[in-house]
Amino acid sequence: MIADLRTLVAIPTGHRHEPGLEETRSILIGRLTALGATPHRVSGDRAPDWLREGAVSAAPQRPPPFIVCRKERANARVRVLLCGHADTVHDPAGDFRELSIAPGGKTATGPGCVDMKGGLLVALAALRAIEEQDLPVSWTFAIVSDEETGSFHCDRALREEAARGYDAALVFEPALPDGGLVVERMGSGQFIIECGGKAAHVGRDFVHGVSAVHALAQTIDRAMRFADPARGLIVNIGPLEGGSATNVVPDSARAWGNVRVGSEAAYQSIREALAGMATVGGLPSTRVQLVFNRPPKPLTPAVQALADLARGVSEDLGRPLPFGRTGGVCDGNNIQASGVPTLDTLGVRGGGLHTTDEWIELDSLVERAQMTAVLLARLANR
Ligand SMILES: [Zn+2]
Repeated sequence: MIADLRTLVAIPTGHRHEPGLEETRSILIGRLTALGATPHRVSGDRAPDWLREGAVSAAPQRPPPFIVCRKERANARVRVLLCGHADTVHDPAGDFRELSIAPGGKTATGPGCVDMKGGLLVALAALRAIEEQDLPVSWTFAIVSDEETGSFHCDRALREEAARGYDAALVFEPALPDGGLVVERMGSGQFIIECGGKAAHVGRDFVHGVSAVHALAQTIDRAMRFADPARGLIVNIGPLEGGSATNVVPDSARAWGNVRVGSEAAYQSIREALAGMATVGGLPSTRVQLVFNRPPKPLTPAVQALADLARGVSEDLGRPLPFGRTGGVCDGNNIQASGVPTLDTLGVRGGGLHTTDEWIELDSLVERAQMTAVLLARLANR
């Protein structure tokens, strides 16, 4: 597994580096077809044009494909969807490019080693164990190539796959620092506020200008007041831009933002509040667009049962499995919103996610693979 990790980590897949993503997808498809799965390639969608680099790092571009590899068994007693992402946040041209194992061999650093190339190998090892034992599990492995930028390209295909009907989904995001499992997540949406005004020379014609920057500042102030973190409603705004020179009344300004919500009700309330700031006719004008790309992932009874099953497996393997909650989001949000109870932190332990200190506890590769394999076996016997 360490040799495979060295290979995957050395292939750059950050910043939508398509050659590296394609090479990684090919390696994964090769391993999965060797286990008897049939690969399918689905075209990705375009992201909304107003999303851009610096706002959510999801600029319009040629969308990467979504890949599924399906292994059906006639005698299957359970159908499981496994999901992982091939992309990282790391600069393909940066200095942080390979796996380096620390003295003593317990940990290693490398781009994507924990988020989530280690997790991909955990899933592959568990599936290999299932196949060697010929357990009655039908499984599908889904490969997303743009998770770190919100899965705007692969999400529709992933949700359609989840809607084909699975008993459970397993996603291989990194474990919590204590090795724990996230059992509940907030949802997340992206929005843009665009204000329009009328340009005028500041010295000659100021009174005929209408400042879009002033309108945007007032609108931002209103939007921030919608936040109510204690009730599970977070609003963050930035970056923003407006105007062209200090001696011209600015006729355009815009700001990007992110909402996080603990419930569908909180989403509906912020959606209506933001939409209600839009103006109809006249200057200054205000326009708001919102895309809710990550629904909340509540702790449902089915998720609780799945998490308890995983905890039992972990404890039988001699390791406790604490449960946790987070405002962070992942593809698990979207899979569960398609009706499949989902555990989404079955990947490896480590830290420094999204930094050039990203590190992995190497022992966790085997530990998490054991846990996943036994969990799959118990799902088949449940
Ligand atoms: Zn991740």
